[in-house]
Amino acid sequence: MNEKNLNNNKGAMSIFNKKGMLVFPNPKEKRTICNQEKLLVFTACYCPNGHNLVTENAKINEFNGILLEISDDENTGYVALSPVYGCKTRIAVGIKLQDGKQYKISCTECHVELPTYSECHCGAHIFALFLDKESSYHSFVGACNRIGCENSYIQIGEELITSARLQEL
Ligand SMILES: [Zn+2]
Ligand SMILES: [Zn+2]
Repeated sequence: MNEKNLNNNKGAMSIFNKKGMLVFPNPKEKRTICNQEKLLVFTACYCPNGHNLVTENAKINEFNGILLEISDDENTGYVALSPVYGCKTRIAVGIKLQDGKQYKISCTECHVELPTYSECHCGAHIFALFLDKESSYHSFVGACNRIGCENSYIQIGEELITSARLQEL
């Protein structure tokens, strides 16, 4: 690794640590959650009204989960997502989630629907979880509202961070 790369690494790391995310190594012998060398964990993310959706009321493994309201035409329930980026663990309560189906995702506190940022390549929608209380598209997590579609990414300013990219940091 050359010097330029090292500098870039520091830059990326400090962005993560400022924006309600933490990066830490995931030792091989302890890889019970995700088989990744490094974990990126969301410690806070917000609805458009500034409510933090990361809560200790929904633990996934040892981490505070991201708790969302999720509904289809008939039912409304909750889904807790792992705050570890790239980790697909989720727990649904009060609603049966079906693979391939699209859902409406809302804040558990103010019930506002999370905004659609763009269309997903699968035809569903990318909804946004903001990484700061100002709820700007400058920094957010985008994820598909279709169960089973694994499209998700982190946008920070001009930078687009995908799961593959994270392992290179
Ligand atoms: Zn809210
Ligand atoms: Zn999708």
